[in-house]
Amino acid sequence: MKGEYLYGGWFAFLPRVKAFLLETVFPEHAVCRVCGKITEGGILCGACEDRLQTDGMAYAWDREELEPDLDAYTLRPHAGVARQLVLRLKHHAEKCAAEKLADLLLPVPEHIRFAPDTVVTWVPMPESRRMERCIDHGQVLAEAAAERLNLPCRKLLNRLETREKPQARLGQKAREANLARAFRPAEESGCPVLLVDDVLTTGTTARRCAEALRAGGAREITLLAFTRAMPGYISEAENARKTEAKIIRRERRGKL
Ligand SMILES: [Zn+2]
Repeated sequence: MKGEYLYGGWFAFLPRVKAFLLETVFPEHAVCRVCGKITEGGILCGACEDRLQTDGMAYAWDREELEPDLDAYTLRPHAGVARQLVLRLKHHAEKCAAEKLADLLLPVPEHIRFAPDTVVTWVPMPESRRMERCIDHGQVLAEAAAERLNLPCRKLLNRLETREKPQARLGQKAREANLARAFRPAEESGCPVLLVDDVLTTGTTARRCAEALRAGGAREITLLAFTRAMPGYISEAENARKTEAKIIRRERRGKL
Protein backbone atom coordinates (compact mmCIF):
# COMPACT_ATOMS: atom_id res chain seq x y z
CA MET A 1 0.00 0.00 0.00
CA LYS A 2 2.81 2.35 0.98
CA GLY A 3 4.78 1.38 -2.16
CA GLU A 4 1.73 2.08 -4.30
CA TYR A 5 1.37 5.52 -2.75
CA LEU A 6 5.03 6.37 -3.35
CA TYR A 7 4.81 5.11 -6.94
CA GLY A 8 1.78 7.31 -7.65
CA GLY A 9 3.24 10.22 -5.69
CA TRP A 10 6.55 10.22 -7.57
CA PHE A 11 4.88 9.91 -10.95
CA ALA A 12 2.58 12.81 -10.12
CA PHE A 13 5.63 14.86 -9.15
CA LEU A 14 7.75 14.03 -12.23
CA PRO A 15 6.13 16.46 -14.75
CA ARG A 16 6.89 19.35 -12.37
CA VAL A 17 10.49 18.24 -11.97
CA LYS A 18 10.75 17.90 -15.75
CA ALA A 19 9.29 21.39 -16.32
CA PHE A 20 11.67 22.86 -13.74
CA LEU A 21 14.72 21.21 -15.34
CA LEU A 22 13.69 22.27 -18.84
CA GLU A 23 13.18 25.82 -17.71
CA THR A 24 16.60 25.84 -16.07
CA VAL A 25 18.39 24.42 -19.10
CA PHE A 26 16.53 26.29 -21.82
CA PRO A 27 15.93 30.04 -22.07
CA GLU A 28 12.82 31.68 -20.65
CA HIS A 29 9.61 30.89 -22.51
CA ALA A 30 11.05 27.65 -23.93
CA VAL A 31 8.64 25.46 -22.01
CA CYS A 32 4.91 25.33 -22.76
CA ARG A 33 3.08 26.77 -19.75
CA VAL A 34 0.23 24.34 -20.23
CA CYS A 35 1.70 20.92 -21.15
CA GLY A 36 5.42 21.30 -20.34
CA LYS A 37 6.69 20.51 -23.87
CA ILE A 38 9.52 22.54 -25.40
CA THR A 39 8.23 25.43 -27.51
CA GLU A 40 9.74 27.43 -30.34
CA GLY A 41 10.13 30.51 -28.19
CA GLY A 42 6.54 31.28 -27.22
CA ILE A 43 4.87 30.42 -23.95
CA LEU A 44 2.72 27.75 -25.62
CA CYS A 45 3.71 24.81 -27.82
CA GLY A 46 2.16 24.52 -31.29
CA ALA A 47 -0.51 22.07 -30.15
CA CYS A 48 -1.64 24.20 -27.19
CA GLU A 49 -1.55 27.33 -29.35
CA ASP A 50 -3.85 25.62 -31.87
CA ARG A 51 -6.17 24.51 -29.09
CA LEU A 52 -6.31 28.02 -27.66
CA GLN A 53 -7.25 29.44 -31.05
CA THR A 54 -9.86 26.85 -31.96
CA ASP A 55 -11.17 25.37 -28.72
CA GLY A 56 -14.39 27.13 -27.77
CA MET A 57 -13.97 29.66 -30.57
CA ALA A 58 -17.75 29.63 -31.05
CA TYR A 59 -17.97 31.57 -27.77
CA ALA A 60 -15.63 34.38 -28.85
CA TRP A 61 -17.14 37.80 -28.13
CA ASP A 62 -20.30 36.20 -26.79
CA ARG A 63 -22.59 38.91 -25.46
CA GLU A 64 -24.68 38.44 -22.35
CA GLU A 65 -26.98 40.83 -20.49
CA LEU A 66 -26.13 40.57 -16.78
CA GLU A 67 -28.65 43.27 -15.85
CA PRO A 68 -30.43 46.00 -17.87
CA ASP A 69 -27.44 48.38 -17.88
CA LEU A 70 -24.65 45.87 -17.78
CA ASP A 71 -23.56 43.81 -20.78
CA ALA A 72 -20.75 41.29 -20.73
CA TYR A 73 -18.51 39.95 -23.46
CA THR A 74 -16.68 36.67 -23.01
CA LEU A 75 -14.03 35.15 -25.28
CA ARG A 76 -13.73 31.48 -24.38
CA PRO A 77 -15.32 28.91 -22.06
CA HIS A 78 -13.44 28.51 -18.77
CA ALA A 79 -11.88 25.28 -19.99
CA GLY A 80 -8.87 23.91 -21.82
CA VAL A 81 -5.89 26.13 -22.60
CA ALA A 82 -7.72 29.41 -21.89
CA ARG A 83 -8.54 28.19 -18.37
CA GLN A 84 -4.97 27.00 -17.84
CA LEU A 85 -3.66 30.44 -18.81
CA VAL A 86 -6.05 32.09 -16.35
CA LEU A 87 -4.81 29.75 -13.61
CA ARG A 88 -1.14 30.39 -14.51
CA LEU A 89 -1.76 34.09 -14.15
CA LYS A 90 -3.93 33.86 -11.07
CA HIS A 91 -2.03 31.33 -9.00
CA HIS A 92 1.50 31.54 -10.40
CA ALA A 93 1.62 35.28 -11.15
CA GLU A 94 2.84 34.63 -14.72
CA LYS A 95 2.36 37.90 -16.54
CA CYS A 96 3.11 36.27 -19.92
CA ALA A 97 -0.20 34.38 -19.56
CA ALA A 98 -2.02 37.74 -19.46
CA GLU A 99 -0.31 38.79 -22.70
CA LYS A 100 -1.36 35.55 -24.39
CA LEU A 101 -4.96 35.95 -23.20
CA ALA A 102 -5.06 39.59 -24.29
CA ASP A 103 -3.98 38.57 -27.80
CA LEU A 104 -7.32 36.75 -28.06
CA LEU A 105 -8.97 40.17 -28.25
CA LEU A 106 -7.54 40.77 -31.69
CA PRO A 107 -8.94 41.29 -34.18
CA VAL A 108 -11.83 43.07 -32.45
CA PRO A 109 -14.98 42.32 -34.50
CA GLU A 110 -16.16 45.22 -36.68
CA HIS A 111 -19.49 45.60 -34.87
CA ILE A 112 -17.85 45.99 -31.44
CA ARG A 113 -16.54 49.48 -30.81
CA PHE A 114 -15.80 51.14 -27.52
CA ALA A 115 -16.14 54.94 -27.26
CA PRO A 116 -12.70 56.60 -27.48
CA ASP A 117 -13.05 58.06 -23.97
CA THR A 118 -13.67 54.60 -22.48
CA VAL A 119 -11.47 53.80 -19.49
CA VAL A 120 -10.43 50.22 -18.82
CA THR A 121 -10.37 49.09 -15.20
CA TRP A 122 -10.29 45.87 -13.18
CA VAL A 123 -11.77 44.13 -10.14
CA PRO A 124 -9.17 44.89 -7.46
CA MET A 125 -8.18 42.05 -5.16
CA PRO A 126 -8.04 42.64 -1.40
CA GLU A 127 -4.81 44.46 -0.50
CA SER A 128 -3.70 41.69 1.86
CA ARG A 129 -3.96 39.13 -0.95
CA ARG A 130 -2.16 41.45 -3.37
CA MET A 131 0.74 41.81 -0.93
CA GLU A 132 0.85 38.05 -0.53
CA ARG A 133 0.92 37.37 -4.29
CA CYS A 134 3.03 40.40 -5.28
CA ILE A 135 0.75 41.24 -8.22
CA ASP A 136 -2.90 41.98 -8.78
CA HIS A 137 -3.55 39.65 -11.69
CA GLY A 138 -6.70 41.57 -12.60
CA GLN A 139 -4.67 44.74 -13.10
CA VAL A 140 -2.12 42.92 -15.27
CA LEU A 141 -4.90 41.51 -17.45
CA ALA A 142 -6.70 44.86 -17.72
CA GLU A 143 -3.49 46.64 -18.72
CA ALA A 144 -2.77 44.05 -21.41
CA ALA A 145 -6.36 44.33 -22.70
CA ALA A 146 -6.26 48.14 -22.70
CA GLU A 147 -3.07 48.09 -24.75
CA ARG A 148 -4.68 45.84 -27.40
CA LEU A 149 -7.79 48.06 -27.50
CA ASN A 150 -5.83 51.34 -27.52
CA LEU A 151 -7.67 52.58 -24.45
CA PRO A 152 -6.38 54.09 -21.20
CA CYS A 153 -6.31 51.91 -18.08
CA ARG A 154 -6.90 53.33 -14.60
CA LYS A 155 -7.77 52.12 -11.15
CA LEU A 156 -11.41 53.17 -10.71
CA LEU A 157 -12.30 50.86 -7.83
CA ASN A 158 -11.08 50.37 -4.30
CA ARG A 159 -11.71 47.18 -2.40
CA LEU A 160 -12.41 47.35 1.27
CA GLU A 161 -10.58 44.93 3.51
CA THR A 162 -13.27 42.58 4.77
CA ARG A 163 -13.27 39.05 6.04
CA GLU A 164 -14.04 37.75 2.59
CA LYS A 165 -13.80 34.14 1.63
CA PRO A 166 -12.53 33.36 -1.90
CA GLN A 167 -15.51 33.76 -4.26
CA ALA A 168 -14.71 30.60 -6.20
CA ARG A 169 -15.64 28.43 -3.21
CA LEU A 170 -19.04 30.01 -2.58
CA GLY A 171 -22.56 29.58 -3.90
CA GLN A 172 -24.69 32.39 -5.35
CA LYS A 173 -26.21 33.62 -2.04
CA ALA A 174 -22.94 33.46 -0.15
CA ARG A 175 -21.22 35.36 -3.00
CA GLU A 176 -23.79 38.15 -2.73
CA ALA A 177 -23.31 38.45 1.06
CA ASN A 178 -19.54 38.20 0.76
CA LEU A 179 -19.29 41.07 -1.70
CA ALA A 180 -21.94 43.45 -0.37
CA ARG A 181 -20.31 46.86 0.05
CA ALA A 182 -16.87 45.45 -0.81
CA PHE A 183 -16.18 47.99 -3.57
CA ARG A 184 -15.96 51.78 -3.55
CA PRO A 185 -15.27 54.19 -6.43
CA ALA A 186 -11.63 55.27 -6.45
CA GLU A 187 -12.40 58.51 -8.33
CA GLU A 188 -15.20 60.52 -9.92
CA SER A 189 -14.93 59.19 -13.47
CA GLY A 190 -17.96 60.24 -15.55
CA CYS A 191 -16.76 58.22 -18.55
CA PRO A 192 -17.74 54.90 -20.20
CA VAL A 193 -15.99 52.04 -18.41
CA LEU A 194 -14.77 48.66 -19.60
CA LEU A 195 -14.38 46.40 -16.59
CA VAL A 196 -11.96 43.55 -17.34
CA ASP A 197 -11.99 40.27 -15.43
CA ASP A 198 -10.48 36.83 -15.96
CA VAL A 199 -13.56 34.66 -15.51
CA LEU A 200 -17.29 35.33 -15.43
CA THR A 201 -19.12 32.92 -13.16
CA THR A 202 -22.41 34.19 -11.73
CA GLY A 203 -21.81 37.85 -12.50
CA THR A 204 -22.18 38.87 -8.83
CA THR A 205 -18.74 40.48 -8.64
CA ALA A 206 -19.37 42.38 -11.87
CA ARG A 207 -22.72 43.69 -10.56
CA ARG A 208 -21.19 44.89 -7.29
CA CYS A 209 -18.35 46.57 -9.18
CA ALA A 210 -20.81 48.18 -11.61
CA GLU A 211 -22.78 49.62 -8.67
CA ALA A 212 -19.64 51.17 -7.24
CA LEU A 213 -18.56 52.50 -10.64
CA ARG A 214 -21.98 54.10 -11.16
CA ALA A 215 -21.71 55.69 -7.71
CA GLY A 216 -18.46 57.22 -8.98
CA GLY A 217 -20.29 58.68 -11.99
CA ALA A 218 -19.32 56.06 -14.59
CA ARG A 219 -21.72 55.48 -17.48
CA GLU A 220 -22.13 52.70 -20.07
CA ILE A 221 -20.36 50.02 -18.08
CA THR A 222 -19.37 46.91 -20.00
CA LEU A 223 -17.73 43.79 -18.66
CA LEU A 224 -15.10 41.91 -20.62
CA ALA A 225 -14.30 38.51 -19.13
CA PHE A 226 -11.73 36.34 -20.85
CA THR A 227 -13.41 33.07 -19.90
CA ARG A 228 -16.96 32.05 -19.03
CA ALA A 229 -17.64 29.33 -16.47
CA MET A 230 -20.43 27.28 -18.02
CA PRO A 231 -22.02 24.50 -16.00
CA GLY A 232 -21.42 21.22 -17.74
CA TYR A 233 -19.12 22.58 -20.45
CA ILE A 234 -16.08 20.40 -20.98
CA SER A 235 -14.19 20.78 -24.22
CA GLU A 236 -13.54 17.67 -26.28
CA ALA A 237 -9.80 17.94 -25.65
CA GLU A 238 -10.28 18.26 -21.91
CA ASN A 239 -12.69 15.36 -21.91
CA ALA A 240 -10.14 13.17 -23.71
CA ARG A 241 -7.43 14.23 -21.25
CA LYS A 242 -9.61 13.41 -18.25
CA THR A 243 -10.47 10.00 -19.66
CA GLU A 244 -6.79 9.31 -20.30
CA ALA A 245 -5.84 10.39 -16.76
CA LYS A 246 -8.57 8.13 -15.37
CA ILE A 247 -7.20 5.14 -17.34
CA ILE A 248 -3.64 5.83 -16.12
CA ARG A 249 -4.83 6.01 -12.51
CA ARG A 250 -6.69 2.73 -12.85
CA GLU A 251 -3.65 1.12 -14.49
CA ARG A 252 -1.49 2.17 -11.54
CA ARG A 253 -3.95 0.68 -9.12
CA GLY A 254 -3.71 -2.53 -11.10
CA LYS A 255 -7.35 -2.55 -12.10
CA LEU A 256 -6.71 -2.86 -15.84
ZN1 LIG B 1 1.64 22.72 -24.80
